[in-house]
Amino acid sequence: MRGAPTILHLDMDAFYAAVEQAAKPSLRGKPVVVGGIGPRGVVATASYEARVFGVHSAMATGQARRMCPNAAYLAPRFSLYRQVSDAVMELLHGLSPLVEPLSLDEAFVDLEAGGTSASTQAAREVGERLRRDIRAATGLTGSVGLAGSKMLAKIASERAKPDGLVVIAPGTERELLAPLTVRTLPGVGPATAEHLRRVGIHAVGEMVEAGEDELVRLLGRAHGTSLHAMAQGLDDRPVVAERDAKSVSVEDTFDVDLHDRARVRSEVARLADRCVGRLRSAGRSGRTVVLKVRRYDFSTLTRSETLRGPTDDPAVIREAAARLIESVDTTGGVRLLGVGVSGLADFTQEDLFAQAATAEEATAEEGAEPVADAAAEGSGVGPVEEIAEEAGRRRWAPGHDVRHAEFGAGWVQGSGVGRVTVRFEQPWSEPGRVRTFPVDDPDLEPAEPLPLVRAEEGSGGQSSPAMRPKSWSSPPEPPPPDEASSP
Ligand SMILES: [Mg+2]
Repeated sequence: MRGAPTILHLDMDAFYAAVEQAAKPSLRGKPVVVGGIGPRGVVATASYEARVFGVHSAMATGQARRMCPNAAYLAPRFSLYRQVSDAVMELLHGLSPLVEPLSLDEAFVDLEAGGTSASTQAAREVGERLRRDIRAATGLTGSVGLAGSKMLAKIASERAKPDGLVVIAPGTERELLAPLTVRTLPGVGPATAEHLRRVGIHAVGEMVEAGEDELVRLLGRAHGTSLHAMAQGLDDRPVVAERDAKSVSVEDTFDVDLHDRARVRSEVARLADRCVGRLRSAGRSGRTVVLKVRRYDFSTLTRSETLRGPTDDPAVIREAAARLIESVDTTGGVRLLGVGVSGLADFTQEDLFAQAATAEEATAEEGAEPVADAAAEGSGVGPVEEIAEEAGRRRWAPGHDVRHAEFGAGWVQGSGVGRVTVRFEQPWSEPGRVRTFPVDDPDLEPAEPLPLVRAEEGSGGQSSPAMRPKSWSSPPEPPPPDEASSP
């Protein structure tokens, strides 16, 4: 816990949906839902305008359609989200060498490690400048939280949403946390919350009052002690640059998706034991238990829980993994499970989760747990994208880019009964007009996404649409403010 709020948490606002609104002028200010559009699809991100209707990430798309039938339902365009994310992460790396991405649109930054002086004012100035730079580079808004610890920085950015900045002054943590629901704390999923509810503990302050012994009795030693510390705002987890993240992990892909919840639990326990075997044979121990789940639709997410101290105790790691799986919705089926332990003193084992280097979020962007100490991650994104692209070629996935020989660049608004409807507009144009074509119209073909911000005239950019902030000029009209409701 620091004396100055120099841990920064950035979270882009409704990221996928905001990218789509920036790319598609006709959707600005309108409800937009990005996610699986098939019958078993799940919402990845809803724009703030759609959230007014109760639509949220991780909800079945079918349910979202009932709640908000007039929203635009779009298939994700991960290649574009990744380009925008790269531009944002580049700005973060300009602030500090210690940047810990949690997903495509979310990261912690240790400002002190980057030379920001340890004062509230200095941190606030860096945060405000970052928000301006992100807007200029991407046309999008991000919310910034600043605090003396990761947990509080993340709570702060949640409070800053949308399009804001919140500083939690060191010394006020405990008071601030006291009235919040226990689910605010990293590591409190539905099962733990239910455990606590049964003994009348609803708010974080009540956890502190219950005392460490009582929490240990209820939740086990590792979980109880760490949560008692967190409840008081005591969180000294460091910001870990991605390349330094060390872990031992094991994972299994299943030939047939697992649907049975009991089977999922037993596989997680088995993987936890295997992971401990590897950990022990390497003579190591670790503090953070990581669970990886790839669902039937290839969406991949990770959940993690940080223990108070390092362990190689199979029971402790099994319990932590079991708690983590309770916070993951596996209805629909599970293709892959993984269990890892990170935070090792030294590192010799291959890090199987390191594929997250291309950190990607193929799953709910803002998950059900607002401050879960976890990240959506996406080694599974490749397949999702391939599927989407295939679908684009065959079925013209809604939201995907096309080019028409006569009318130019546009995007698929819908298709069916042998027709495809295209709206012809570009990120920097006025809202465009809609035209309908036969699905096999030879003049119509799939296209690459256009950059959100037009490259400077004459500066090239034609060969690489990659969004490098330096090559951009004249930011477009920013997307309209999320007038409605922060969630
Ligand atoms: Mg976000």
